[in-house]
Amino acid sequence: MTKPKSSWQPSNARFSYSSFVIRSSFVIRASSFLLAWIAVSSTLLAADNIGILGSKPNWDVLEHYQHTITHDEFAHLINDVYCTHGVPDNLIKIDADSARIVTNRDSKSTFTLQFAANENSKARIPRLWRPAKSLPRTKFNKPLAGLRIALDPGHLGGKWAKMEERWFQVGNTKPVTEGDLTLRVSRMLAPRLRKLGATVLFVRNSTQPVTSKRPVDFLDLAKTILIKNGVPRPRDEVLNPTDPAKEGTVHWQSEMLFYRYSEIRRRAVLVNTKLHPDLVLCLHFNAEGWGEPSNPTLIDNNHLHLLVNGSYLTEELDLDDERFEMIRRLLSRAYDEELPIADTVATAMAKATGLPPYQYPTTLTTTKVGSSGYVYARNLLATRIYRCPVVYCEPYVMNSKDGFARIEAGDYEGTKEINGVQRKSIFREYADSIADGLREYYSNARGGGD
Ligand SMILES: [Zn+2]
Repeated sequence: MTKPKSSWQPSNARFSYSSFVIRSSFVIRASSFLLAWIAVSSTLLAADNIGILGSKPNWDVLEHYQHTITHDEFAHLINDVYCTHGVPDNLIKIDADSARIVTNRDSKSTFTLQFAANENSKARIPRLWRPAKSLPRTKFNKPLAGLRIALDPGHLGGKWAKMEERWFQVGNTKPVTEGDLTLRVSRMLAPRLRKLGATVLFVRNSTQPVTSKRPVDFLDLAKTILIKNGVPRPRDEVLNPTDPAKEGTVHWQSEMLFYRYSEIRRRAVLVNTKLHPDLVLCLHFNAEGWGEPSNPTLIDNNHLHLLVNGSYLTEELDLDDERFEMIRRLLSRAYDEELPIADTVATAMAKATGLPPYQYPTTLTTTKVGSSGYVYARNLLATRIYRCPVVYCEPYVMNSKDGFARIEAGDYEGTKEINGVQRKSIFREYADSIADGLREYYSNARGGGD
């Protein structure tokens, strides 16, 4: 979601908002800005220029992508999808026959990718996931037959919801916790996708974290990050949930390292090494700044958007691991699959929900892509490091008057009148519309279906 504006201002003048690494933000940003967290891990050299909890990239794997892409296709993906805020000429240089990419910002070593001479001479793209067009035609009413879909319910919920700042409560009503809502939708979506023939896998199917780490494991790293970011003597504790200086405390940073960075990186290990899906659906509910969680602001605005990976910031491209992950993702051509899926699913969700497309207040971090009007490219951690097509859904503003009333109404059959309109249960509408969109996409792409 949109970022609630951070009210925290560091005391040190050298410290600027834009360079702060870990911030309160609803959509999980992939990047870590200036964070080169030096020598935190013994496996990393001090000179390594790696994102938070990232690992040193193995550029050799990109040798398998030699001659798999033409110059024009590579240039298009760089210019129109991944580096829409500018291509750092000193890091990525595109020539007629090849591209030279800096592998280590400090040593200036490079990797050279040779282009295919033309469309017909392209070598096979190595990848574990299968695009729809490579799957056999479908029969009967099973357009998802043979497809492996992983459901990734955003956040944790349960007892973690307050820590994640995905918790608010209006008066004495049931608290709204995003991680529980996304799990509920995922569990309703799974049987719908199985009915269409898919094999469904859960990245998370409880309110427990996938990572075995806890905030206490990150106290030292949190302190290191704060000091490196210009907070020479960071405070340990947060005074209260509305403490304006909470983002500058070791406590708050260590929690963020746990539930965001460590958790998503562990989910990626699960996705990439065990689940091997053809598609991951990241399921979220959106929100806008609600202020005090126990006295939240309810707003009129309600909207929908979906995200695919792209639109890297120059600060992000500066990190060796993020640059590597971007190039690997580009070469896998995940975008060619995830964009039309996102467009088709967005259109189905827009039809079912009647929600308008979300308009980001700035174009600094996102780039609108596709044809539906609902899809943006953005560099989020999950959309970057899950190595397959990823569609990240952000329907419904939880603290909108309609969204909140529908969440409080729970799940039910048929329709109920909510704020004067007959509505399906918000959970069924979410699950049904995703299933409808996927059915349409795969039916068309596989040339069979119903
Ligand atoms: Zn979310």
